[in-house]
Amino acid sequence: MSEVIPFRPKHARVPSAAPSEPATCETCPRHCALPEDALGACRARREHEGVVMDDNYGRVTSLAIDPIEKKPLARFHPGTRVLSIGSYGCNLRCPWCQNHSIAQVGEHDVAWREVLPAELVRLACAERARDPRMIGIAFTYNEPLVGWEYVRDCAELAMAEGLLNVLVSNGCFEERVLREIAPLIDAANIDLKAFDEETYRFIGGDLDQVKRTIALLAAAPLCHLEVTCLIVPGVNDTPEEMKRLARWLAAVDEDITLHVTRFHPAWRFSDRNPTDRALVRELAEVAREVLPHVYLGNM
Ligand code: SF4
Repeated sequence: MSEVIPFRPKHARVPSAAPSEPATCETCPRHCALPEDALGACRARREHEGVVMDDNYGRVTSLAIDPIEKKPLARFHPGTRVLSIGSYGCNLRCPWCQNHSIAQVGEHDVAWREVLPAELVRLACAERARDPRMIGIAFTYNEPLVGWEYVRDCAELAMAEGLLNVLVSNGCFEERVLREIAPLIDAANIDLKAFDEETYRFIGGDLDQVKRTIALLAAAPLCHLEVTCLIVPGVNDTPEEMKRLARWLAAVDEDITLHVTRFHPAWRFSDRNPTDRALVRELAEVAREVLPHVYLGNM
């Protein structure tokens, strides 16, 4: 890996407590209280001189060109491609995490290189000149919003170049962050991990906050929204839970798209079996009773 110079942009700073007190991060519902130079639970944000900043700003672990359907987005410019980018860190601890090698680690546990916003947009424009199917940038792979300032800065530049911005997120973030990002996002896929408060507590999240995120993005006039539910055996795999989830989504937006996807063994759930295909199909049928656009994934 080439030498990387840490980058701490002034605009990434969030006003917080006095330097002598732990600074509180207001980015997600964990509200980490961080003493001097400490990292938050996401391993991506750090206290620095009394403010909490995205320490992973511009630190890219993954960069690839993906079909838009892989995000997954089924009803947003099908057949096109996006430059997909990820860093490291996540505010949740799902033991089944499919991207744990970058999402559940910090800066010293994964290789990264610096790609600042202007460079990222230049790469996307160059790819668009080469391939007309290329439409924009997807912020994905790890949890992008633990570094929401980088998403904001890239998305603003991308928008100015006529590129589209795609966000793939767990949605467990404070409203002030979402209101800053939402006007810049053309399409989002929010991972609704369960429809049960206890499951969200188990992974360090907050179901109500994710529901507020989905409602906010569904109401955003320029943002196309789709939702994904990964069916994990023994966690969220009952028809009753899917019925409640689908009914709530239909009440938010009767035209919303839901992806019902199949778990494959990963990270701390490496010893579990993949979800039974017939069960995934059954749960998708339950969702179709109230939702018109239900897709299967990872089958
Ligand atoms: S974004 Fe990170 S540092 Fe901030 S509250 Fe959430 S887990 Fe803690």
